[in-house]
Amino acid sequence: MHIVVLAGGVGGARFLRGVTAAAPGARITAVINTGDDVTLHGLRICPDLDSVMYTLGDGIDEDRGWGRRDETWTVRAELAAYGAEPTWFGLGDRDVATHLVRTRMLDAGYPLSEVTAALADRWRPGVRLLPMSDQRVGTHVVVTDPATGRTRAIHFQEWWIRHRAALDAHRFVQVGVDDARPAPGVLEELAAADAVLLAPSNPVVSIGTVLGVPGIRDAVRAAGSRVVGVSPIVGGAAVRGMADRCLPVVGVEVSAEGVGRHYGARSAGGLLDAWLVHTGDAADVPGVDVRAVPLLMTDPEATTALARAALDAARA
Ligand code: GDP
Ligand code: CA
Repeated sequence: MHIVVLAGGVGGARFLRGVTAAAPGARITAVINTGDDVTLHGLRICPDLDSVMYTLGDGIDEDRGWGRRDETWTVRAELAAYGAEPTWFGLGDRDVATHLVRTRMLDAGYPLSEVTAALADRWRPGVRLLPMSDQRVGTHVVVTDPATGRTRAIHFQEWWIRHRAALDAHRFVQVGVDDARPAPGVLEELAAADAVLLAPSNPVVSIGTVLGVPGIRDAVRAAGSRVVGVSPIVGGAAVRGMADRCLPVVGVEVSAEGVGRHYGARSAGGLLDAWLVHTGDAADVPGVDVRAVPLLMTDPEATTALARAALDAARA
């Protein structure tokens, strides 16, 4: 069995942990959003790749959902003592080592996909971890600057972490996406998949960005297997995080039905064959096999059961 999962960070990482448990022995490929990547303090930061790598490699801080367990923050405090901006992004001491290795390899000319494979050599995530692209794509958010009243674009990380998504977003812009190509392996893995799963990741800035890389959406639509999506919206709200701040920006209702219709039926030019919504949520998505199952990834058993339901829907 060959499974390909499109994913962002925390929601994607937890779901992937379920998939590895539900399908032991399967070949699993994770295609990860890199639109959130940013360079800060001279270090190349790939939040979603690292969330997945640390989660599957058992190095994650489970409570935060990102960064390393048993982390210390001496470097951050020292940077702050210099007044080195930005101070709103936390990079722990253990995490800094990952970023030094990544940045040095990128500076030496290795593409991100090879750097990711080298980092994964240590973490052994049990899946093939692929960035969506080796080219840089930067998600930006167009906001009205409260200080000046002027419209400007800020990096997604600044909007998400510094402003906690509190500034109203006019739109999202994926800078560089038109010139990006799928990373080596992405299209081949999708073409060879027995199941394609859309993780319950942010539909706009995680899954939406991956699908925005020219060629990836078409490859998902052309996959020989079924395509199954999992709703990140439960009971009309994002389970964790602030995805509910992103959906209205692209005109999508914050509901399992809204996101399901946004992805759309494969038979009608969209992506989905099946759509998993939380027990008790209703969703009418024409042309799609909608199934209600528990979607809360609260513990390993529930997460594995969810992944099993997704794989069942892929087999139907
Ligand atoms: P990020 O890149 O770290 O923001 O993470 P993702 O894009 O992968 O995932 C964020 C999404 O995960 C949010 O929209 C949440 O609603 C969703 N999410 C988090 N935990 C759960 C869960 O237990 N169940 C479901 N169905 N969705 C979840
Ligand atoms: Ca992310």
